Amino acid sequence: MIDGQGRTIDYLRISLTDRCNLRCAYCMPPEGVPCLSHEEILRLEEIGYLTEIMAGMGLKKVRLTGGEPLVRKNVTSLIRQISHIPGIETVAVTTNGILLPKMLSDLKDAGLKAVNISIDTLDEAVFQKITGAILLKEVLEGIDIAYASGLKVKLNCVPVMEFNSEEPVRLAAFAKDRFIDVRFIELMPIGCGRFYTRITSEEILESLEKVYGKATRLPYEGKGPAQYFSFEGFKGRIGFISPISHKFCSECNRLRLTSDGKIKLCLYYKDGVDVRDLIRNGADEGRIREAIEEALRLKPREHYFCEPDKGNTEVKKMSQIGG
Ligand code: SAM
Ligand code: SF4
Repeated sequence: MIDGQGRTIDYLRISLTDRCNLRCAYCMPPEGVPCLSHEEILRLEEIGYLTEIMAGMGLKKVRLTGGEPLVRKNVTSLIRQISHIPGIETVAVTTNGILLPKMLSDLKDAGLKAVNISIDTLDEAVFQKITGAILLKEVLEGIDIAYASGLKVKLNCVPVMEFNSEEPVRLAAFAKDRFIDVRFIELMPIGCGRFYTRITSEEILESLEKVYGKATRLPYEGKGPAQYFSFEGFKGRIGFISPISHKFCSECNRLRLTSDGKIKLCLYYKDGVDVRDLIRNGADEGRIREAIEEALRLKPREHYFCEPDKGNTEVKKMSQIGG
């Protein structure tokens, strides 16, 4: 799949639900947001069918996200189905980790290859302040179980001035003794993210170097948006995903499928191409392929998070879009 800007697109992030068992303040308001109805949400067989069509067009990697993807009923059977689609090389999940202790072994049996776990703090009080829940222990257990299972594990932290500016140094230590990559993601001004203060990748790197010594920048592997560094004595890498301070739009290789069945082209814009109604109205495979091709054609060149509003910007919360 080649988009209108000449980029190869081989990665789809599928949002399985807009629901979540946490309420991270920069992602979702404490009272939550009105949830999609059962009818509005894409059925698992519809997701499987679309993935199959896209795999036939060049899709190689799928990541399940949300909301919290592991709260979606039958996620395991979806993983089993997708991982058997010819052409799909990796099925991964991005999760807050809470349900991993209960579900990991089934997810792995179903064909899950990698898991990214979001963790913003190691302090129970800070965790509660960010997420509204007392569940840090479960997340830590989820990390342990995922790592022990042999799956590829990455940890993601969003540093936010109001909450966890002291945490990156402690979280980076996960990469010291284990082959786990710890990544810091710059807060984007999407939804509730607009109300908080971003800490830039440079600032985080500086704070890590004060404690762990000079970092070595690793060569870009040509995969994903992270810039990785190694610290002496660390088994895992430290990564920075810097959509704001170092736009990576020219390397973008992804589309998103929202839980209500729109192919979303870029986090910044509200535009998308509806595929749910096409499927439900009986469109044949050729017509659905045309819609996917239209999405590829329309995919914008870049985001404008740091510039005055150009209109057409996304107004939904991250949990509704699929982070
Ligand atoms: N619930 C799952 C989780 O937390 O990993 C998956 C969905 S969540 C929306 C995916 C990722 O988006 C999380 O790592 C979260 O921290 C991140 N995120 C949410 N809002 C964000 C924002 N405004 N800017 C940057 N990252 C954000
Ligand atoms: Fe839920 Fe993930 Fe958003 Fe936190 S970041 S509220 S866990 S969807």
